[in-house]
Amino acid sequence: MGVFNFFNLDISIDEIFSRCLICNKILVRVEKENIQEKVPSFVFETQDCYSACSCCGRVYWKGTHFINSFERFRSLGMVQYTEFINGN
Ligand SMILES: [Zn+2]
Repeated sequence: MGVFNFFNLDISIDEIFSRCLICNKILVRVEKENIQEKVPSFVFETQDCYSACSCCGRVYWKGTHFINSFERFRSLGMVQYTEFINGN
């Protein structure tokens, strides 16, 4: 059940964070090894999940930038913390 909850949590994050903030294109999941030179080393060392924009090539990860985006959605009433934590 713990794994299942984590899976749902990950899906919720992906639904929120699935488009490029610059060109609004769908982001695609990329392998960590392929973007090592595109992200700061402290990010590479601490983050395992990355997405890239198919249009501009910008790389996104679920770090501070994501949390700020999530907070903005939350402040707009689009998501709630209970969804984020429980994946419901
Ligand atoms: Zn883009």
